[in-house]
Amino acid sequence: MAIDLKLVHDALPVAKKPPVDPSSLAHRALLGGPFWHKIPAYREVDEATFLDHAWQAKSSITRVAKLVEAIQDLVPPGFVEDLESGMKQAPMSVRVSPYIVSLIDWERPYDDPLRIQFFPLASRLRPDHPKLGLDSLAEQADAPVAGLTHRYVDKALFLPLDTCPVYCRFCTRSYAIGLDTDEVEKVHLRPNDERWRRAYQYIASRPELEDIVISGGDAYQLRAAHIEEIGDALLAIPNVRRMRFATKGPAVMPMKILTDDAWLDALTRVVEKGRKLHKDVVLHTHFNSPNEITGITEAAMGRLFERGILVRNQSVLIRGVNDSVDTMTLLIKRLGHVNVHAYYVYVHDMVRGVEDLRTSVDTAIHIEKHVRGATAGYNTPTFVVDAPGGGGKRDVHSYEHYNRDSGVSVYSAPSVKPGRPFVYFDPLHQLSTHMRRRWSDPNEQKRMIDQALAKAR
Ligand SMILES: *Cc1c(COP(=O)(O)O)cnc(C)c1O
Ligand code: SF4
Repeated sequence: MAIDLKLVHDALPVAKKPPVDPSSLAHRALLGGPFWHKIPAYREVDEATFLDHAWQAKSSITRVAKLVEAIQDLVPPGFVEDLESGMKQAPMSVRVSPYIVSLIDWERPYDDPLRIQFFPLASRLRPDHPKLGLDSLAEQADAPVAGLTHRYVDKALFLPLDTCPVYCRFCTRSYAIGLDTDEVEKVHLRPNDERWRRAYQYIASRPELEDIVISGGDAYQLRAAHIEEIGDALLAIPNVRRMRFATKGPAVMPMKILTDDAWLDALTRVVEKGRKLHKDVVLHTHFNSPNEITGITEAAMGRLFERGILVRNQSVLIRGVNDSVDTMTLLIKRLGHVNVHAYYVYVHDMVRGVEDLRTSVDTAIHIEKHVRGATAGYNTPTFVVDAPGGGGKRDVHSYEHYNRDSGVSVYSAPSVKPGRPFVYFDPLHQLSTHMRRRWSDPNEQKRMIDQALAKAR
């Protein structure tokens, strides 16, 4: 029997809290309607076309000329030149879906959280931190087979391919992902039966491996037949108990889940086969901004939910995108609203050419404190530092030592690489002028690092 909630006013229980400010419910207000019509090139694009994943992929923007054709005179003067020069210096190639292009506020592109993630601007670039490298997580050093990183005891990271539906400026794998750029000639990880077979052989030969992350690149780029081939191969290995297909797709091209039935059916079959074997197969995705979640996302995540496919999210903490308490809280509540579990927030990796995007360990700690308690605990992410040099993910609070003045934090990873310290560096632009001056002197750099390591001991 349904309970009648329409009580007469004086029978309402006395509230212990003041009425909420309607803005605190903004996570439920999702963008709907043909929002893409504000982009000149998409003015005539109907809903069926916009929702067609093949149209999205085919119409993705990879060159400045194509972007200019799409947005025409929406942008402020000087912006196009700024972008052209930014792209020449970037370690990542550019690829952006019409969905994302339509969500950017092109009249104010400098501050737009989606522009910041996907389009580099020369005027915003900052010099790299002196201690930063291309493969900062040393994934290649922990790889027994190209594209298979075995770092943690019972889990491994499998990179079946090196392409994504979009390219993020801040990609940790800029050493491999995307096309070569003027700045970086990449290690290529192409879909390749022989390389994949060697990865499965290795996984089967290591009884301790129970958990495989299938990343890339991006599972969106795998053909339906490949999703099933990889899924079946891994499910057949007795020691494999858990796997996750990782894709940025839901954040940048949610319509694929609505219109690429072959792909979704293949994923569903792997999930169901896993369920029968009592093996966990889930989807991991990568939303960073609440603006990425629209009515289309809600419909797509609803379709996954109906099929019983669990989705978890890993965000990167990015300056100007989600580095405030309000924005991060909105993102996390909005993820919960569309049935996506917020799993991790990564302190930005120390990758090349994106120093403007990094924030400090202190920022992560501050935001975490405010986010925890705002919603369900299982929808509350753990804030982690992926320790440079291959220590793996560490809870941001678990540093052995952190000097907020020099920005040096030291972590240890007893279950991954016992006895070794791992050092992370806050971006220089958040330090005092005095400290920035010290970082420009190699002897001082060494002194600050040695001091932190001594304190951590
Ligand atoms: C992140 C990662 C994993 C998975 O780690 P979880 O903490 O279980 O999400 C596995 N291997 C590598 C190399 C990774 O970077
Ligand atoms: S989707 Fe992931 S792997 Fe691909 S470019 Fe973005 S961060 Fe890198």
